Amino acid sequence: MTKVSVSGTAEPAKPRIRKEQKPGVFVPKIDRDHCEGGFHGDCAKGECPCVSACPRGVLQVRPLTAEDKRALSFGSRFRAWIHRNRQAYVVKEDSCTACTLCIQACPVPHVIKLKRRVVAGGGEPPRA
Ligand code: SF4
Ligand code: SF4
Repeated sequence: MTKVSVSGTAEPAKPRIRKEQKPGVFVPKIDRDHCEGGFHGDCAKGECPCVSACPRGVLQVRPLTAEDKRALSFGSRFRAWIHRNRQAYVVKEDSCTACTLCIQACPVPHVIKLKRRVVAGGGEPPRA
Protein backbone atom coordinates (compact mmCIF):
# COMPACT_ATOMS: atom_id res chain seq x y z
CA MET A 1 0.00 0.00 0.00
CA THR A 2 1.29 3.48 -0.81
CA LYS A 3 1.19 6.14 1.92
CA VAL A 4 1.02 9.87 1.28
CA SER A 5 3.44 11.94 3.35
CA VAL A 6 2.70 15.32 4.97
CA SER A 7 4.26 17.05 1.95
CA GLY A 8 1.81 15.19 -0.31
CA THR A 9 4.37 12.93 -2.04
CA ALA A 10 3.85 9.18 -2.18
CA GLU A 11 6.06 7.03 0.08
CA PRO A 12 6.63 3.32 -0.59
CA ALA A 13 5.20 1.05 2.11
CA LYS A 14 7.89 -0.25 4.48
CA PRO A 15 8.15 -4.04 4.90
CA ARG A 16 6.74 -5.31 8.17
CA ILE A 17 9.69 -6.07 10.41
CA ARG A 18 9.28 -9.25 12.40
CA LYS A 19 11.06 -9.62 15.74
CA GLU A 20 14.11 -11.79 15.22
CA GLN A 21 13.64 -15.36 16.43
CA LYS A 22 15.88 -18.16 17.66
CA PRO A 23 17.48 -19.95 14.69
CA GLY A 24 15.28 -22.62 13.16
CA VAL A 25 11.86 -21.46 14.38
CA PHE A 26 11.00 -20.01 10.97
CA VAL A 27 12.16 -21.04 7.53
CA PRO A 28 11.94 -19.14 4.23
CA LYS A 29 9.63 -20.56 1.57
CA ILE A 30 10.42 -19.62 -2.01
CA ASP A 31 7.64 -19.05 -4.55
CA ARG A 32 8.78 -21.32 -7.40
CA ASP A 33 6.45 -19.59 -9.85
CA HIS A 34 8.15 -16.22 -9.46
CA CYS A 35 11.75 -16.61 -8.23
CA GLU A 36 14.14 -15.20 -10.84
CA GLY A 37 17.27 -16.75 -9.39
CA GLY A 38 19.47 -16.83 -12.45
CA PHE A 39 18.75 -13.43 -13.82
CA HIS A 40 19.57 -10.51 -11.59
CA GLY A 41 22.16 -9.19 -9.17
CA ASP A 42 25.44 -11.11 -9.20
CA CYS A 43 23.78 -14.13 -10.80
CA ALA A 44 26.83 -14.95 -12.89
CA LYS A 45 28.59 -15.79 -9.62
CA GLY A 46 25.61 -17.77 -8.42
CA GLU A 47 24.57 -15.05 -6.00
CA CYS A 48 21.35 -13.13 -5.84
CA PRO A 49 20.35 -10.30 -3.50
CA CYS A 50 18.65 -12.68 -1.08
CA VAL A 51 21.82 -14.80 -0.85
CA SER A 52 24.07 -11.80 -0.27
CA ALA A 53 21.68 -10.29 2.28
CA CYS A 54 21.39 -13.36 4.51
CA PRO A 55 23.90 -13.15 7.36
CA ARG A 56 23.50 -16.85 8.17
CA GLY A 57 24.03 -18.50 4.79
CA VAL A 58 20.53 -19.96 4.70
CA LEU A 59 19.93 -19.41 0.98
CA GLN A 60 21.74 -20.48 -2.16
CA VAL A 61 20.87 -20.13 -5.84
CA ARG A 62 20.91 -23.53 -7.55
CA PRO A 63 19.49 -25.29 -10.59
CA LEU A 64 15.81 -26.15 -10.19
CA THR A 65 15.37 -29.77 -9.15
CA ALA A 66 13.60 -32.06 -11.62
CA GLU A 67 10.77 -32.48 -9.11
CA ASP A 68 10.26 -28.73 -8.68
CA LYS A 69 10.40 -28.25 -12.45
CA ARG A 70 7.74 -30.93 -13.00
CA ALA A 71 5.45 -29.19 -10.48
CA LEU A 72 5.50 -25.90 -12.43
CA SER A 73 2.80 -24.86 -14.88
CA PHE A 74 3.80 -24.41 -18.53
CA GLY A 75 4.03 -20.63 -18.09
CA SER A 76 6.15 -20.90 -14.95
CA ARG A 77 8.42 -23.45 -16.62
CA PHE A 78 8.94 -21.04 -19.50
CA ARG A 79 9.70 -18.23 -17.03
CA ALA A 80 12.15 -20.48 -15.21
CA TRP A 81 13.84 -21.31 -18.52
CA ILE A 82 14.29 -17.58 -19.23
CA HIS A 83 15.93 -17.34 -15.81
CA ARG A 84 18.32 -20.19 -16.67
CA ASN A 85 16.38 -22.67 -14.53
CA ARG A 86 18.02 -21.37 -11.38
CA GLN A 87 16.23 -20.41 -8.20
CA ALA A 88 16.88 -19.76 -4.52
CA TYR A 89 16.93 -22.80 -2.24
CA VAL A 90 17.14 -23.13 1.53
CA VAL A 91 20.38 -24.91 2.35
CA LYS A 92 20.52 -24.35 6.13
CA GLU A 93 16.97 -24.81 7.29
CA ASP A 94 17.78 -24.64 11.00
CA SER A 95 19.73 -21.37 10.82
CA CYS A 96 17.11 -18.80 9.81
CA THR A 97 16.41 -16.16 12.47
CA ALA A 98 13.50 -14.57 10.59
CA CYS A 99 15.41 -11.29 10.35
CA THR A 100 13.62 -10.53 7.00
CA LEU A 101 16.78 -9.14 5.35
CA CYS A 102 16.36 -11.52 2.39
CA ILE A 103 12.76 -10.40 1.91
CA GLN A 104 13.81 -6.77 1.90
CA ALA A 105 16.65 -7.48 -0.57
CA CYS A 106 14.61 -9.52 -3.08
CA PRO A 107 13.56 -7.33 -6.01
CA VAL A 108 10.50 -9.48 -6.76
CA PRO A 109 7.68 -8.81 -4.29
CA HIS A 110 6.36 -11.67 -2.13
CA VAL A 111 8.70 -14.36 -3.50
CA ILE A 112 10.10 -15.15 -0.05
CA LYS A 113 7.73 -15.80 2.83
CA LEU A 114 8.70 -16.90 6.32
CA LYS A 115 6.81 -19.93 7.59
CA ARG A 116 6.94 -21.60 10.97
CA ARG A 117 9.17 -24.65 10.56
CA VAL A 118 7.87 -28.16 11.09
CA VAL A 119 10.57 -30.53 12.36
CA ALA A 120 10.85 -34.30 11.75
CA GLY A 121 8.08 -36.15 13.61
CA GLY A 122 5.51 -33.47 12.84
CA GLY A 123 6.29 -31.15 15.76
CA GLU A 124 7.39 -27.54 15.72
CA PRO A 125 10.65 -26.15 17.12
CA PRO A 126 10.20 -24.33 20.47
CA ARG A 127 8.97 -20.74 20.28
CA ALA A 128 11.57 -18.04 20.79
S1 SF4 B 1 14.25 -15.11 -3.88
FE1 SF4 B 1 14.30 -13.10 -4.87
S2 SF4 B 1 16.43 -12.36 -4.70
FE2 SF4 B 1 16.40 -14.55 -4.27
S3 SF4 B 1 16.85 -15.55 -6.20
FE3 SF4 B 1 14.62 -15.49 -6.03
S4 SF4 B 1 13.99 -13.57 -7.02
FE4 SF4 B 1 16.23 -13.47 -6.66
S1 SF4 C 1 15.08 -14.22 7.27
FE1 SF4 C 1 17.20 -13.57 7.73
S2 SF4 C 1 18.24 -15.42 8.47
FE2 SF4 C 1 16.33 -16.07 7.47
S3 SF4 C 1 16.94 -16.59 5.37
FE3 SF4 C 1 16.24 -14.45 5.39
S4 SF4 C 1 18.09 -13.21 5.71
FE4 SF4 C 1 18.60 -15.33 6.26
